[in-house]
Amino acid sequence: MYTSILSATMQGIRAIPVQVEVDVSPGLPGFSMVGTVNSQVREAQDRVRTSLHNLEIPVPPRRITINLSPADVPKAGTGFDLPITAAILESLGQLPKGGLESVMVTGEVGLDGQIKKVRGVLAMVEEARKSGCQGCIVPWENRREAQMIQGIRSVGVRNLGEFMRTVRERTWEHPEKEREKMEIAPEITADFREIKGQTAAKRGALLAAAGFHNILLMGPPGSGKTMVAKRIPGLLPALSHEEAMEITSIYSVAGLLSSKVPWVSNRPFRSPHHTISPQALAGGGKIPMPGEITLAHKGVLFLDELPEMKRETLEILRQPLEDGEIHIARVGGRYSFPAEFLLVGAMNPCPCGYYPDRNRCDCGEHEIKRYQQRISQAFLDRMDICVTTNAATYGEFRGEIPDSDSIQWSTENMRKEVERARLIQKERLKESGICYNSQIPPGEISTYCKTSEEAEKMLQGAFEKLHLSGRACNRILRVARTAADLAGKEQIEEEEIAEAIGYRSFDKHSWK
Ligand SMILES: [Zn+2]
Repeated sequence: MYTSILSATMQGIRAIPVQVEVDVSPGLPGFSMVGTVNSQVREAQDRVRTSLHNLEIPVPPRRITINLSPADVPKAGTGFDLPITAAILESLGQLPKGGLESVMVTGEVGLDGQIKKVRGVLAMVEEARKSGCQGCIVPWENRREAQMIQGIRSVGVRNLGEFMRTVRERTWEHPEKEREKMEIAPEITADFREIKGQTAAKRGALLAAAGFHNILLMGPPGSGKTMVAKRIPGLLPALSHEEAMEITSIYSVAGLLSSKVPWVSNRPFRSPHHTISPQALAGGGKIPMPGEITLAHKGVLFLDELPEMKRETLEILRQPLEDGEIHIARVGGRYSFPAEFLLVGAMNPCPCGYYPDRNRCDCGEHEIKRYQQRISQAFLDRMDICVTTNAATYGEFRGEIPDSDSIQWSTENMRKEVERARLIQKERLKESGICYNSQIPPGEISTYCKTSEEAEKMLQGAFEKLHLSGRACNRILRVARTAADLAGKEQIEEEEIAEAIGYRSFDKHSWK
């Protein structure tokens, strides 16, 4: 007796349809499994057999062969338990023949018959919809995520008994109950208004968000670098439906969704510890899983204590910062994960953290230089904006700041400015295939970053006096472009050039 049921496996963040074929025939009793499966999938036979036994479903002493096709696709995960069980039950006549035609099935089966959540359900259901399926049966805990995909009916099941009832009653054909609507209204949990003083850092954050410029925050411990970084996602425009789906799909693959958090509605903020391994940052494993840079897609990746990070870990960021995605090569093929994030770095200026405050810092010049040079020039070249944060003054700490100031620097006001500047960029860059000022290629700087005569002179002066590289000049122009967009100016003037030069302070430090 031969049965075939549709399921899927994950390759990167893409789902690939897999047919689970089961043949029950006379012969030496036993299970065998074929079709490029890893050990996790192979163990499915034990879980399936034990759970059927525990549910007192008699499995006759026959030869059971399971094939997962196509054979050349590597398969991993525990999601094949449920389709395998379903195919066996159908072969044994416990479920109606052909009852799961045009239905995709996924789920891990526990030894007690409970069905546990699996990764990647969102992408699987989308794949099922594309291939014309009518319905999907998924673990209960994945149901809300599955139901985000419109045009296909997804049913969640808690255990094998419920699964069998669902198949017999063809629940997915019944009119749906009201579906929960996906809410993508971002909630602001931290507001810039709460930060006292730090006008330079706030202005830097505003520019970074408006032009998608990477930003480095330098300052003593406790000067609010983390506070500023955490609030940057709130400055980015609200997620569009497509963006929310894409990010949710990534979190689904990473196994980070649950019934309580079935989708992602805020821009991600990821802040891995400086001891993170290159694999955890980039993504890895035999069948690669998304790393921190992919979890930060469309949001902010915050790296604190930059000089403490290993160079090889920082090197990983180079390619995704250029391409907006990361490629991982494996025997089974090449995997790509999206990784378009705003990089926010933070560091102390010296080993003790208080340089240049010589009342507190007695680090030697040589020590300071060595500390700062732990970050390569190549990495610094990717940071458009560097701002210094200062410990709050007593007056600022006690909240003695004019009201008008705290209103101006509220997250809501700043985001409005960002949105305005983004619209101007979109219009100007619509034919170039890029979205933000930070992405303007060197060859097109002169087209998009037009300067006034005085501004040009000022830049030339800086170039000669500060021995700037051509690359640094381009960065100055891109940041100045964003500053001009925020000010609603078509032409870049001296004011914007002066501001942007100010953000290259690290070129004047020991890095030279
Ligand atoms: Zn020091």
